[in-house]
Amino acid sequence: MIAPAWKAMIETRMQSMIEQNRLREFKVIQAACQPKLTYQGKEMLNLSSNNYLGLANHPEIIAAIKEAAEHGAGATASRYIIGHDETCAQLEQEIAQFHQKEAALLFSNGYMANLGVLSALLQRGDAVFSDRLNHASIVDGIRLSGAKQYRYRHNDLDDLEKRLKQAEQDDIKRKLIVTDAVFSMDGDRAHLPELIQLKEKYGAALLIDEAHSGGVFSEEGQGLAHHLGLHSHVDLHMGTFGKAFGVYGAYIVGSEKWINYLMQTSRSLIYTTGLPPAIVGGIRKSLQLVRRATPLRHSLHQKSNYIRTQLQALGFQLGPTTTQIIPLWLGDEQTALTFSKRLEQEGIMVVAIRPPTVPKGTARLRLSVMANHDWNDLRHATEVITQIGQEMGVI
Ligand SMILES: *Cc1c(COP(=O)(O)O)cnc(C)c1O
Repeated sequence: MIAPAWKAMIETRMQSMIEQNRLREFKVIQAACQPKLTYQGKEMLNLSSNNYLGLANHPEIIAAIKEAAEHGAGATASRYIIGHDETCAQLEQEIAQFHQKEAALLFSNGYMANLGVLSALLQRGDAVFSDRLNHASIVDGIRLSGAKQYRYRHNDLDDLEKRLKQAEQDDIKRKLIVTDAVFSMDGDRAHLPELIQLKEKYGAALLIDEAHSGGVFSEEGQGLAHHLGLHSHVDLHMGTFGKAFGVYGAYIVGSEKWINYLMQTSRSLIYTTGLPPAIVGGIRKSLQLVRRATPLRHSLHQKSNYIRTQLQALGFQLGPTTTQIIPLWLGDEQTALTFSKRLEQEGIMVVAIRPPTVPKGTARLRLSVMANHDWNDLRHATEVITQIGQEMGVI
């Protein structure tokens, strides 16, 4: 028996999600890390993966995971109790060296990293400037902190500056600007040079989330800030190992002062069990592979460029994407769901992204490209997408 007040709440909210076409569902997928996955017994082209470099089933990473698992299936405690071992310490050194920063701190995943870092850094009375399209984990970390939040219009530096001035007038001393480096549902990039100028002009700190740029940009895959040669101007970089790195986990890097403080204060680091040794082993191998993955990065960018240019020329609305994340803007939830379903019937898996993940009226299909996609499959996909787009009157 559910108490009536709970029953009523659940039914009302569920009904409203159904009416708005916002209900989510788990699809049972097999071989999700492959360019071709299996769904309901059918092989389908996978255009929904964040496994951008195709490393998630790399034999060397899997071998490293198996080998590390010999030391035990779990870390058994928080890293501050007995859940920290040599491999964990070595990995943090390797991440710091990878980013050419003084120190690194490993977290269980990106959600927990953002939650822990933002809630630990920001105090009541501080000001945080957050792009409107930042990831939910940033939004939630800020919520937990009690700091005053200024949400600026997406990639709008004038709007950001206006808010920085406002905070200065309000005599707020500590300011933090936080942004995704590549926006997860739009595929466009933050304007890092201008953000750094503003950060310096207003004496703020800058935290960037490289979840979708890590592995993908710069000579060794450190991300967008390295790609632009600006990494030394960024106070804190957050990155994840679950996307292009193909494993799981996340990190934050910066100078010792920042990191030492976060080590003492991030509750999502302190009050959770350390990552299993197998995961740490997998990440270390993946990090080696990512650093040498220039040909994979090249292939990913070539294929992404191809899909973007083709679909744009055919008249699809892609917005300002310049990366491997390619949204087809469709507007309402029902159109996005129907389009996705039609693609599914044609053997192409592209999941519809709807509010509240994206703003109201911007439901879309989010295509993501992998370095190991087959060229013929991508050509075929653009043809099918075009056909359905015409059929549905979207183009
Ligand atoms: C995926 C993502 C995260 C969360 O990372 P997980 O390791 O999946 O928890 C954080 N920030 C951004 C921008 C992301 O896209």
